[in-house]
Amino acid sequence: MEKIEKNNPGLQLTRYAPTPSGFLHLGNIYSFILTYQLAKKYSAKILLRIDDLDRERVRKTYLQDIFHTLDFLELPYSFGPKNLNDFEQNYSQALRMPLYLDALEVLKNNGNLFACNCSRKKIQKISPNGFYNGSCRDRRLDFTEKNMAWRMLLSSNQELKIKDLINGDILCKVPDEIVDCVLKRKNGFPSYQLASVIDDLHFGTNLIIRGIDLWPSSLAQLYLSSLLPENTFSKAVFFHHSLMKDNEQKKLSKSEGALSIRYLRKSGKKKEDIFKAIGSWLGREAPTSNLEDFSFLQMIPLK
Ligand SMILES: [Zn+2]
Repeated sequence: MEKIEKNNPGLQLTRYAPTPSGFLHLGNIYSFILTYQLAKKYSAKILLRIDDLDRERVRKTYLQDIFHTLDFLELPYSFGPKNLNDFEQNYSQALRMPLYLDALEVLKNNGNLFACNCSRKKIQKISPNGFYNGSCRDRRLDFTEKNMAWRMLLSSNQELKIKDLINGDILCKVPDEIVDCVLKRKNGFPSYQLASVIDDLHFGTNLIIRGIDLWPSSLAQLYLSSLLPENTFSKAVFFHHSLMKDNEQKKLSKSEGALSIRYLRKSGKKKEDIFKAIGSWLGREAPTSNLEDFSFLQMIPLK
């Protein structure tokens, strides 16, 4: 696969990055609409990037749902797979496995990683808040042994910096959940954090719009990218948006619930109805029956 960045020098690139572990819901679509509007504002192109590495959770029907939904809502993008077949042939993360493994080798050889065989149960027992406490850091366990996770050395007193689209450079502390985060899972697969960074590097993404729930991940990924040779990701600009909640104020889940686009589509809702629902969540009184009606999202303050 060709590197998009190389083909388009100086291009700003953002992305829709759905995970096919459930059906897309209104919250995902809000994220895509916002991405579309900000891409327009900053003259960035959009890549469709699908994370399918988590074999236990990914299903073909969810992959298909992504293409159905983008077609149904006519959400445009410039790069990435056009359909399920194109995805499997040319874009699946399985095809980039050598890139992930190379990066892991580099990080290991540079002394940025350590091996850990702690079970989830053990971590819960040692650490009351359930977050990893670095207990294997100095054990020098053998990376090559079976059932060994590879963790990135990231202590809680490391200072991190993120380029925020609205506020510029922000200095932050390391959130507990990303201390020594796993880069290679016990089953031998790269973790989400590792694969996500390597993919964004590979494609040259430099404008990242995602939900606020991924704030700790953004910080982990930026730190990880700072350990790799000079790259576009470490200079990327981020915007973290609010999450759409259900009536009980819970984050929408990727189930086949009443708010999945699939359900809405099957129950006869039209494209316009989906856009209207999102506009009404945003408190918009003016009509929002199509993608262009959301141009107000290009203005600050963003939700
Ligand atoms: Zn451990």
